[in-house]
Amino acid sequence: MKMQRAQLMWAGQAVLIVLPVVVLSGVALHFLKEDRAAIEQDAKRRAYAIAPDVARQIGDEISAYLVQSRKQGIATEGEIVDGRGMAIPDYPRFPEPPDWVEKPPSRANAELRLLVASESGGDPAALIRQAVHIAQQYPGEVTESGAQVADAALLVALRHVRGDPPADLAGAIENQITQHPSFLSTDLLDSAALRAKWQLAEDQRQKIRYMMQDFVPRLNRRPGTATILYWDDSPHPVPRELPPGLALCAPRDRGWEITRLRVEALRRALHARLPDYMGAWLNVGGQRWNIGERQRTNFAPLGYAKGSFSLDGVKYPFLLTLDLVNPDLLSVPYRRRLVMMQWVILLAVAAALLGLWRLWNTYRDQMRLNEMKSNLVSSVSHELRAPIAAVRLMAESLESGRVEGAEKQKDYYRLIVRECGRLSSLVENVLDFSRIDRGRKEYHFEPLDAAALLRHTVMLMEPGAAERGVRLRLADLPAEFEDLQPAWDAEAVEQSLVNLLDNAVKHSPAGGEVRVEVELLPAVVRLWVIDQGPGIPADEHGKIFDLFYRYGSELRRETEGTGIGLSIVKHVAEAHGGRVIVESAVGQGSRFGLELPR
Ligand code: ADP
Repeated sequence: MKMQRAQLMWAGQAVLIVLPVVVLSGVALHFLKEDRAAIEQDAKRRAYAIAPDVARQIGDEISAYLVQSRKQGIATEGEIVDGRGMAIPDYPRFPEPPDWVEKPPSRANAELRLLVASESGGDPAALIRQAVHIAQQYPGEVTESGAQVADAALLVALRHVRGDPPADLAGAIENQITQHPSFLSTDLLDSAALRAKWQLAEDQRQKIRYMMQDFVPRLNRRPGTATILYWDDSPHPVPRELPPGLALCAPRDRGWEITRLRVEALRRALHARLPDYMGAWLNVGGQRWNIGERQRTNFAPLGYAKGSFSLDGVKYPFLLTLDLVNPDLLSVPYRRRLVMMQWVILLAVAAALLGLWRLWNTYRDQMRLNEMKSNLVSSVSHELRAPIAAVRLMAESLESGRVEGAEKQKDYYRLIVRECGRLSSLVENVLDFSRIDRGRKEYHFEPLDAAALLRHTVMLMEPGAAERGVRLRLADLPAEFEDLQPAWDAEAVEQSLVNLLDNAVKHSPAGGEVRVEVELLPAVVRLWVIDQGPGIPADEHGKIFDLFYRYGSELRRETEGTGIGLSIVKHVAEAHGGRVIVESAVGQGSRFGLELPR
């Protein structure tokens, strides 16, 4: 019943230790999970909060950049460069059949004849000037042969050019070819060695054509009426690779004015504005434009915002998308908390385990102590009962006068005295145990006659031993021992010797002998009590000095005892700065040595 209650209590306490740890760990993990969701939610909130601002800034930046580009001078015609440039105009119309049949020879023809006439011996520079003049003055006019006047004049001038044609002549040729192409156009290009430059311009024209095809329908604007958007990284094969970027093409007199915006221009500015884990995308005119340098991930976008930039009063809307490009960066604080929490949980579990272990030990010790105490009570009562009953019986017999004869009466008295001695030594042991247990045991070390003490104690134990048929023999004492005056507690040493002798006698067979010897060493004296009893197995040697420990099962125990004797001997020896030695093996008797300082 008591055992069950104790077990229940132990289980209850164990639950009290474990439960908080389990609950706390659960709560911690739950919060951690929520923490993660909160971090993502937070990132989204933040993205939505900053997106309009970032969009506005991007719009402003693009607008400012475009305006700035406008202010810079136009690059060489035909080149599309960063900033602003002019694209070469496309062919306005295809060549048409000559109309010389209806038209009479004109002033243009007369001027051409004049040019040819002045060819021999004339100044080449004046000749070229004249040819350029005719080409600009009479575009589209034809000779009787059907060839264009301008073509013929320019070919005449080219006959007098060594090396590259001068700029005005080259410009006039290019203009003539693009505005009024004819069967002589290739002759003109070859004579002026302008093929390479022409090829370049042709490439640009090609590109502009793509621009029109691609983006005009998309932006729903007709070419020539408004500025159009163009992406340089269009999938079409463009003649010259340009880094990705945005281009605005606005119609200008003969061709298109192109304003390019390279993505790098915005990246640096953006970088400073976005948190490390975010990337930014612009959706302009149906194209996605990655304006953050960071790689895209599969994560859902964090936030959107609409924005716009403008040029020449036209607004170009775009959609800004902010997305998660580096989730690791986002969750750095979360991970730190996770690791910390794991450690906290681990520590809590370790602490709980330690607590459980301690609790279990305490419980086990408590149970053992309880058992020992109940054993002590029963064995002490048992030990008391026999001598008290004997004394009572003998005293009653004496009182009733039933014991006759002085000799017999004397025997009775002697027996009563002996039983009382046993009783008092038992009581003394119990009292001592209680004093030691409460830490109240005090020792009085005073010089004494060790030999006398030993003789007296042996004499005291002799009658009891004789009664059991055991012979108690004190070996010859060393001469030096006779003069020894060690500072011992006489009472305690005597009690210890009594306990050792009592054990020896108790365990000796009838007819056996218990010997007491003294061994003198330089610093210590060993008082040996040697018996011929059953002996004690080696693995029990350490335990027999424990309080209440009695070797052998309760049922097998033939000898009476309480299990306190040897623990008191040990306490006394240690209080003196000495120790108890046991040398024993099963079947070979035991030797107990009380070692005390000299
Ligand atoms: P007890 O009151 O039982 O004698 P002790 O503390 O004196 O208690 O002894 C503890 C145990 O040691 C005993 O129960 C006994 O088994 C063993 N013991 C002590 N002295 C001897 C001995 N001389 N021979 C055999 N066993 C002994």
